[in-house]
Amino acid sequence: SDRLKGKRAFVTAAAVGIGRACAVAFAREGATVFATDIDEAKLAALKSEGIAEVARLDVRDSAAVAAIAKRAGTTDILLNAAGFVHHGTVLDCSDEDFDFSFDLNVKSMHRTIRAFLPGMLENGRGAIVNISSAAGVFKAAPNRYVYGATKAAVAALTRSVATDFIAKGIRCNCICPGTIETPSMLERAAAAGPNGREMFIARQPMGRLGTAEEIAALAIYLASDESAFTTGVAHVIDGGWTL
Ligand code: NAD
Repeated sequence: SDRLKGKRAFVTAAAVGIGRACAVAFAREGATVFATDIDEAKLAALKSEGIAEVARLDVRDSAAVAAIAKRAGTTDILLNAAGFVHHGTVLDCSDEDFDFSFDLNVKSMHRTIRAFLPGMLENGRGAIVNISSAAGVFKAAPNRYVYGATKAAVAALTRSVATDFIAKGIRCNCICPGTIETPSMLERAAAAGPNGREMFIARQPMGRLGTAEEIAALAIYLASDESAFTTGVAHVIDGGWTL
């Protein structure tokens, strides 16, 4: 339980789901964790989970991201979890929908990496973990037009950062989950109709949804020195969805 001992971690979209599970798991492994989200009420509950600091952060706000990075100080681990699933095809996706998805899912990571990387470079080390998706990177999913495009962009951005800073002690990896039981996933299932949950389970060959804790287990590995020889990789963890 000390795989991240002595490390400082910063997490976005940490109020629920994958971001929350990662923040809590990092703290359990000994990291000093700064957890952020736009949902302040749900964030507050994290304080009893060993999280050192919580604060409101809208990752769509460049000035706010820059300011909080200053406040956070030198950070060893940056976990970018913020993301939104737009439902529909190209015909359902307005210019506004497109821009919103790219802003929240991709540009948010550009903002946080630009804000935190200089401190990591000064320190000579850093691990960046971006939450992408199996959808978009390893397979196309129906009605995930702009979502898939954003997640493929996350994988590309991840490789670019990895290659540009590989000799400077910085590693950058992304995680590509399958169908994970989280609040927004359950909302998407409910919106799909009375059998929505079963439909989402049916696309997972293992016959069950993944858990946020299973994603956090991989995030710990990628954030820790155990993965020191791994960078720029899209790590699929999807219960066989892409088999
Ligand atoms: P979720 O979608 O249930 O919750 C998202 C969180 O993001 C919420 O706490 C919300 O308040 C926060 N948020 C929304 N807008 C924000 C903003 N502008 N700034 C800061 N925070 C904001 O959580 P989830 O399903 O675990 O998704 C987390 C990440 O995992 C996303 O990037 C998602 O695309 C990715 N992912 C999820 C699944 C899945 O099946 N759940 C699969 C693959 C990838």
